[in-house]
Amino acid sequence: MDIELAPEDLAFREEVRAFFKENEYKPGEDYAQWRLDWFAKAAEKGGWDVPKWPVEFGGPGWSPTQHYIWEQETAVANLPWDMPFGIGMLAPVLMAYGSKEQQDRFLPDIRARKVNWCQGYSEPGAGSDLAGLKTKAVLSDDGTHYTVNGTKIWTTAAHIADWIFCLTRTDDSGKKQEGITFLLFPMKQEGVEVKPIITLGGAHSVNTVFITDVKVPVENRVGEEGKGWTYAKGLLQHERTGLAGLSRSLVALDKLKNQARTVKRGNATLMDEPAFRAKVAELEVDLMAAEYTELRSLASASAGAAPGPESSILKLKGTEIQQRIQKLTVEAGGLYSAAWGAKQPGPSFARSGMSGYLASRAYTIYGGASEVQKDVISKNVLGIKKSK
Ligand SMILES: Cc1cc2nc3c(=O)[nH]c(=O)nc-3n(C[C@H](O)[C@H](O)[C@H](O)COP(=O)(O)OP(=O)(O)OC[C@H]3O[C@@H](n4cnc5c(N)ncnc54)[C@H](O)[C@@H]3O)c2cc1C
Repeated sequence: MDIELAPEDLAFREEVRAFFKENEYKPGEDYAQWRLDWFAKAAEKGGWDVPKWPVEFGGPGWSPTQHYIWEQETAVANLPWDMPFGIGMLAPVLMAYGSKEQQDRFLPDIRARKVNWCQGYSEPGAGSDLAGLKTKAVLSDDGTHYTVNGTKIWTTAAHIADWIFCLTRTDDSGKKQEGITFLLFPMKQEGVEVKPIITLGGAHSVNTVFITDVKVPVENRVGEEGKGWTYAKGLLQHERTGLAGLSRSLVALDKLKNQARTVKRGNATLMDEPAFRAKVAELEVDLMAAEYTELRSLASASAGAAPGPESSILKLKGTEIQQRIQKLTVEAGGLYSAAWGAKQPGPSFARSGMSGYLASRAYTIYGGASEVQKDVISKNVLGIKKSK
């Protein structure tokens, strides 16, 4: 998609590119230190370490076009490893609903990437039906702390997380959306046990977390007791906007085209085959349409609005596009994509193609399954009521 860039936007793009180049990782450098320094230098640029945070919390206050440029440039640059849980998910909840003490206590370490967070929402019996969660938090008689018991599942990065933001049930007498309370507690303590779940592609990123008699001081409750559902939903909208990954898909699609140009088909290449070209073209058109939706969302975000239910459109379309790119990468690798093990034949892209494809199956599940996004879109965007 070509959007007309004004001279000041072109200058901004050059500044961003120069920053990435100047602060590139150099082989042999201590990666952990480089990572922390990178974010510190980005902070000195005036909030480049927290592009989506509001100005009053240190964000850069960019225009939608500047955000768009940033997204595009970060998709091709070699940025330090980062996690969305603190910076993109918990932080907006603390800004909107946390106390001043909680903001002062947690936001600086989140911003400095010194503390890793994980998200304790899903449970063995509560995924799409998240409001059915059962992890129990009981307030002590003196009102000083909660005792938490229960099991969380699919918890990404729980094994490396320092803290968890956790949905708990403090009351089960009313509607299931009521009586949910949003608590924060450290992971490295007695009573928190993390067990790995190895996924299809052989990776360890998700876990089961068993919580037994964990004491959480009331100061670590975000907002009011029983109102956690409201905060949890707001957080999900931020999560969904972040999962679309459209700029990364643009780069991946370009890479796919180049890979297909290296696959011989008679006297031509796979990229010259009409059937393959048609699939790539269809993807490109869908990606462009999704990009316009993202621009609309960026425009309202930079006008100060929190992401609304339209974040479900981005999540749905963006993750489907990512999966289609992975599928076509496997198709381009042909039989070589099925090879597994240390010594693999065929082009190098076929090696990572299959693991990427297997990992991509989860994109339309986490952050709320696609079927659930369709429900949200039909109800809250299109205004369609459920038939009785
Ligand atoms: C790789 C990965 C990482 C994750 N990371 C985290 C994390 O860090 N923290 C966290 O809390 N959770 C995490 N999750 C959990 C994720 O949010 C849930 O898996 C997801 O919400 C779906 O819930 P479920 O697995 O219980 O499936 P279910 O809710 O049991 O759904 C099963 C199937 O039924 C369909 N379905 C359910 N309800 C409806 C409906 N109303 N209409 C139509 N179809 C429906 C679903 O679309 C799905 O296809 C992760 C999941 C994965 C796969």
